[in-house]
Amino acid sequence: RGTTPEPPDVRPRLTVLSGPSGVGKSTVVAHMRKEHPEVWLSVSATTRKPRPGEQHGVHYFFVTDDEMDKLIANGELLEWAEFAGNRYGTPRAAVLERLEKGEPVLLEIDLQGARQVRESMSDARLVFLAPPSWEELVRRLTGRGTESPEVIERRLAAARTELAAEPEFDETLVNTSVEDVARELLALMDVV
Ligand code: 5GP
Repeated sequence: RGTTPEPPDVRPRLTVLSGPSGVGKSTVVAHMRKEHPEVWLSVSATTRKPRPGEQHGVHYFFVTDDEMDKLIANGELLEWAEFAGNRYGTPRAAVLERLEKGEPVLLEIDLQGARQVRESMSDARLVFLAPPSWEELVRRLTGRGTESPEVIERRLAAARTELAAEPEFDETLVNTSVEDVARELLALMDVV
């Protein structure tokens, strides 16, 4: 052994960004990754159909119901949840591999998934992204323009329940500005 002292225990933790549908999680994450491409974001599997511009393996792994059944049955997902009629899950192996290499890992998942991660990875850091106000959240959910009224109504109902979960989280970030929140998230992850 040399004279180098043991490094302090600063194992990077898994950071989970969650919050109501439409609060702007993916916008914040996209902005953050533009500035810091070294921050690795887990790519989820989903049974949802791709939206225009979404690429397999980049935004999601788009899978069939049968494929999702198998991923779940084989224990290949760190967590999974059903959201607005589709299933979404985080592939376990890629996340553990990054954490073992000492790299920070970010998951952008719904509240049910965040709760499962809390159970299975006790040192995970759970971050709640809150809208500036309920009115603003409704405006964003209604304004996306890609969803039918039925889907919007379902997402609003989910959002109402999700807002009440804030106290379960370690940290809350209010999404007033994408730039500010991205910076705050990076600081929480010890990236800057
Ligand atoms: P969207 O269909 O708009 O891409 O995503 C719908 C919701 O599913 C969002 O709240 C998103 O954060 C969440 N989501 C995406 N991937 C996962 C995942 O792997 N697990 C869980 N539990 N939720 C996810």
